[in-house]
Amino acid sequence: MSETRTDHMAYMEGMEVLEPGIMEEVIKAMNAYDYNSYTAEDVKRALEKEMRNPRDFAALLSPAAMPFLEEMAQAAQKETRKHFGNSVYMFTPLYLANYCENYCIYCGFNCHNKIKRAKLNVQEMEKEMAAIAATGIEEILMLTGESRKMSDVKYIGEACKIARKYFKMVGLEVYPMNSDEYAYLHECGADFVTVFQETYNADKYETLHLAGHKRVFPYRMCAQERALKGGMRGVGFAALLGLDDFRKDAFATGMHAYLIQRKYPHAEIAFSCPRLRPIINNAQINPKDVHEMQLLQVIIAYRLFMPFASITISTRERAEFRDNVIGLAATKISAGVSTGIGSHTEEEIADKGDNQFEIADNRSFEEVYAAIKSRGLQPVTNEYVFV
Ligand code: SF4
Repeated sequence: MSETRTDHMAYMEGMEVLEPGIMEEVIKAMNAYDYNSYTAEDVKRALEKEMRNPRDFAALLSPAAMPFLEEMAQAAQKETRKHFGNSVYMFTPLYLANYCENYCIYCGFNCHNKIKRAKLNVQEMEKEMAAIAATGIEEILMLTGESRKMSDVKYIGEACKIARKYFKMVGLEVYPMNSDEYAYLHECGADFVTVFQETYNADKYETLHLAGHKRVFPYRMCAQERALKGGMRGVGFAALLGLDDFRKDAFATGMHAYLIQRKYPHAEIAFSCPRLRPIINNAQINPKDVHEMQLLQVIIAYRLFMPFASITISTRERAEFRDNVIGLAATKISAGVSTGIGSHTEEEIADKGDNQFEIADNRSFEEVYAAIKSRGLQPVTNEYVFV
């Protein structure tokens, strides 16, 4: 660590500290994960099981599993249909603001990247949400850059209150916060929180997150627990695949979700599977050794390890790949996506702020809906009624 950078393992003032048991167990398991030690026999044994344990998950994520992708895909499809039927849930993300105080070197919103910054005011939020709701979408995921100054908890709360008028399910992907703040946002209408850990390798994490609150590794890693303590119905997990050793990161993501599920059995668990994408002012960023086949392996391994978990397939991926994956293991797909600010209306607020990253699937709600149907699956716009 450079002398000028703060200690990424030390909490900053005002950050709620939870008992670190789960974090330590995940890191220990990840450090011990030697994926090259798994054999074809381990993979076959894992595939034959009805319920799989962490050792089976480790085998399914290993290089030894690559020749078994076809069998794994068939087993994953069976699990998906068993627990979710033919349903594929649709949602749209809405970027409320792109101000950010963090310096994540791989992200277009980082505080040193010279981009057009913007945030929606309440009238603009309402217009954007009305435009999204008019497409038929009933679930929204609201995102901000990570700036407590420009998008404080009250601002996000106002967005949640408006969203509750238009949507049946309101999810958040915003900066990690304390459990009382999550409780406030839950009261305002949100009930699902996703936090990407990016990488579970704390040493690597330190080199990628050079400034801001996000630099504090343990505070981020305990965010899902704080969200559940704040009353949220469910929590989402992800590593940004390609930042570090993707097998270790995927293994840690699965273990994190698994241990949270064991401690909070009522919690709904979700996985996202993002890969690195080029960003504005840096088109060179790419997901290195995580090609589509490896990504598919990760998604299938999540399904076989945690059959009840929801899995979202990102618009970072090609339309054809996304459509194939919903046939096998993913249960949730976004549509009508833009990662810019104010991009859902055609009026004066359109394209107020630049995009976070490039997307690969630009299809509208109708197009994704039709694609799901054409595969004999059932598009569903709402999976839950908020009470
Ligand atoms: S990844 Fe998130 S926290 Fe990091 S710069 Fe981008 S928006 Fe900010």
